[in-house]
Amino acid sequence: MQIASNMVVTIDYTLTDDRGNVLDKSAPGGGLTYLHGAENIIPGLESALAGRAVGEELEVTVAPEEGYGMRDESLQQVVARELFGVVESLEPGMQFHAASPEGQPLIVTVIAVEGDDITVDGNHPLAGMELNFAVKVTDIRNATEEEITHGHVHGAGGHQHE
Ligand code: ZN
Repeated sequence: MQIASNMVVTIDYTLTDDRGNVLDKSAPGGGLTYLHGAENIIPGLESALAGRAVGEELEVTVAPEEGYGMRDESLQQVVARELFGVVESLEPGMQFHAASPEGQPLIVTVIAVEGDDITVDGNHPLAGMELNFAVKVTDIRNATEEEITHGHVHGAGGHQHE
């Protein structure tokens, strides 16, 4: 069986930056399970996995345009501490749910704290970066009709509906 649209795929992966620092890694024995062809994962990784079979290992370098996009400097801004309400101590690295000027949900990361001036960055932490994935395909199965309709995987490693 080879990876194609409407298949549920499980991979083990290690993600490193261009200096070899590990940024992310699938849990041992866990893996990442996704629905192929449904934009569940970044485009550069999804296209590299097409046609692969269980047991195949590959190394994929993904450019920002095929990953988490380029950085948008307008998403980095200084805001007032009072916007954080009850949060007692703000420190660089903390993340909060916010909304973009267009109303899209956004996760912002605090990058600097100077008195009441808090600098936040709404870019994805991996935006603008070239990403190196070492991937092993560990499982492939056909998606159910319901999974295809929903656009995501159900069951182990996927969405749990009531
Ligand atoms: Zn669902």
